[in-house]
Amino acid sequence: MDASRRQFLERAALAATLGFSTARLRAQARPAAPPQITDLYLVNGRFHTMDTATRVVSQVWIRNGRFAGVGNNLSTQGNPRRIDLRNRTVIPGIVDAHNHIVLVGNRPGWHTPLEHVFTIPEAIAALKTRASSVPAGEFVTTVGPISAMQFDERRLPTLTELDAVGRPVYLQAAQGGTRTNSEGKVWLEARGVTVAADGAIAGPAAGLALQTLRKTLLTMETRKRTALDALQYYAQLGITTHRDSGAFHADEPATGVASENTYTMHNPFLALAREGRLPARLRIDFLHQDSPTANPPLPTLSERLRNSFPRFGNEWLKTGGIGEFTGGGVDGLRAIARAGWRAEDHALNLAGATTLITNRETVNREIPITDLRWIISHVPEFPVELANRAHAMGMGVLVGWGPTRTGMNVGPPYRMLINHGIHVGYHSDGGDITVINPWLNFSTMITGRNLAGQAILGDQTLTRQQTLWLATAANKWFIWEDDIGSLEPGNRADLAVLDRDYFAIPDEDIKRIRSVLTIVGGRVIYNDGIL
Ligand SMILES: [Zn+2]
Repeated sequence: MDASRRQFLERAALAATLGFSTARLRAQARPAAPPQITDLYLVNGRFHTMDTATRVVSQVWIRNGRFAGVGNNLSTQGNPRRIDLRNRTVIPGIVDAHNHIVLVGNRPGWHTPLEHVFTIPEAIAALKTRASSVPAGEFVTTVGPISAMQFDERRLPTLTELDAVGRPVYLQAAQGGTRTNSEGKVWLEARGVTVAADGAIAGPAAGLALQTLRKTLLTMETRKRTALDALQYYAQLGITTHRDSGAFHADEPATGVASENTYTMHNPFLALAREGRLPARLRIDFLHQDSPTANPPLPTLSERLRNSFPRFGNEWLKTGGIGEFTGGGVDGLRAIARAGWRAEDHALNLAGATTLITNRETVNREIPITDLRWIISHVPEFPVELANRAHAMGMGVLVGWGPTRTGMNVGPPYRMLINHGIHVGYHSDGGDITVINPWLNFSTMITGRNLAGQAILGDQTLTRQQTLWLATAANKWFIWEDDIGSLEPGNRADLAVLDRDYFAIPDEDIKRIRSVLTIVGGRVIYNDGIL
């Protein structure tokens, strides 16, 4: 069966499921042509190369998906398209070295990222814009990377405010609760979900609501749509590489925001990759949670290590290591070390971090891990002594994870770590419990303030240059790829032209930065009037 016929039948099936006409769906079909690789000569920019000399140059020449020249007086060959950037700031494509983009790509409904709006009216406007391309009666959703504290009002929109969207709406925030509107309330209550008069859905009802939406609305086509939308959205914020750090496995549609079927959730991304339509690079880690006392031992991890390949794929989509949970206790770590894979676990406090380091020391004495780039992420509490011990084993730590946190000196100790010598890189950990937008994270790392403006980092803030370095060149080590993360000849041509000068604007504007031109591997992924 040819592709267009198959696509037509899939759409017809989808239309039948959702109860509206095929003609209408076809009218909304997206153009499927992959973006073209273009030879480009970008001039009059301020290119922060993030190379080891921290050069800032005015020109780059992109040929066949890579940088052919980076400098001030380049001589090009062939006939690249010349683009005058009129003094705009340009950065290497941002690498988020640990987030949950695959979960976000599998959200039910017309998932609508809202990480770039900071007032309730802005949020409603963004939801209305989205609704204008959503068929009547279908859910506009935002599940995961949104928080009440990002809005000046420090709350989520109310039922009445959400009614203005004109579609059923479901918001489930990383911080601030779960909300629906009148149309959503009717739909959910008909399916046994308790919704308060103001649209709030509390406690277990929120889990039931999410599970019901998943059971009813998710298809392979909707997952693909959402995966593509999510990657495109973050490309507009400058992210060109995501390292996905997995999900909690659930065979069936689950109540938990961080749960998915970890054996099928990559399918929409794999499909986009096969069609040449990925708008960003995806690196996939495998999360395992075998019990240390399971019998037979390591039931899922041992099969993974036996049947999968680490760091296997192409430049757009590649497997990585085991994480962000390794499972199976010390025996799990032994198996991963023996197989020669990377391992990552997260630490939520000092006791947890100490146990992780001690277990790795045990394994490292038997099977050296020093060349395997093992990672501990989050590290809110991580004193110099633990950094010394991790560094001695060749390990690295990922930091970020901050803009929605509250409290005093909540960490991680950014400044200590960046001056320490241990490998340190940037991750948002966003998707379920926090946001992915890098500029919200950078804002916290630079100002020490969370999205509500509260000081949370004490004296552990970073400079803008340090912060950007963590999310670009420093993450080469964590991605295990040398040819991304900096603007250098021979590297893959990933960059973002920013809408304002990150290095010069007032602190309070950092969170509003976005890209106006995003290029990945020489492909123009996003263009806001620059070309
Ligand atoms: Zn995570």
